[in-house]
Amino acid sequence: MAFWEYRQVIVENMEKAVFLDRDGTINVERNYLYRQEDFAFLPGVLEGLRLLQKDGFRLIIVTNQSGIGRGYYSEADFLKLTDWMVEVLASQDITISRVYYCPHLPDAENIRYRKACNCRKPALGMFRQAVTDFNINLHASYAVGDRMRDCSICLETDCKGYLIGQSEEQDIVERVKAGEYKRIAYKENLYECALDICMNTLQIPGGERK
Ligand SMILES: [Mg+2]
Ligand SMILES: [Zn+2]
Repeated sequence: MAFWEYRQVIVENMEKAVFLDRDGTINVERNYLYRQEDFAFLPGVLEGLRLLQKDGFRLIIVTNQSGIGRGYYSEADFLKLTDWMVEVLASQDITISRVYYCPHLPDAENIRYRKACNCRKPALGMFRQAVTDFNINLHASYAVGDRMRDCSICLETDCKGYLIGQSEEQDIVERVKAGEYKRIAYKENLYECALDICMNTLQIPGGERK
């Protein structure tokens, strides 16, 4: 096999993914949320995730959970809520491939989580791990979140991304809207991102999917 053919096979076997922030992106932001009864999906999220999934994207959640390090809730609390959320989504035919989370903080209350880690966003540890775990082609992938740190991978690789919602500082939102960030666009919510992503996918000449 010629080198270029070999390379083609490798790329074809790679998967595309959407890296999703959790709080403020999938569910309504409530500071240090850990109870089911406080969890509410944002409008259009289920529809948006379904669209992305139908278009062949792996759905991967990448979330900072410093509330664990701060001692506001336990890792077990977080995992319990995660299991429940993943099951609710599964009951809606939405498959979350994996949930990556960072419980650390450099000055965490709990010494177990006191760490200047390489996973807390904007660091790329969780993204890198997901790329390895699922053989992801970043060129065909997206990040979505309500803070710029959720799109940090778009600054360092050719992954594209969306800043959504109103959580980020207004001047940063304006700069994103003005196109100051090459691979990051602004949308109101996850559903709008899903529409945009799926349209881009369909617009490739010859019907070829990226
Ligand atoms: Mg968030
Ligand atoms: Zn970490």
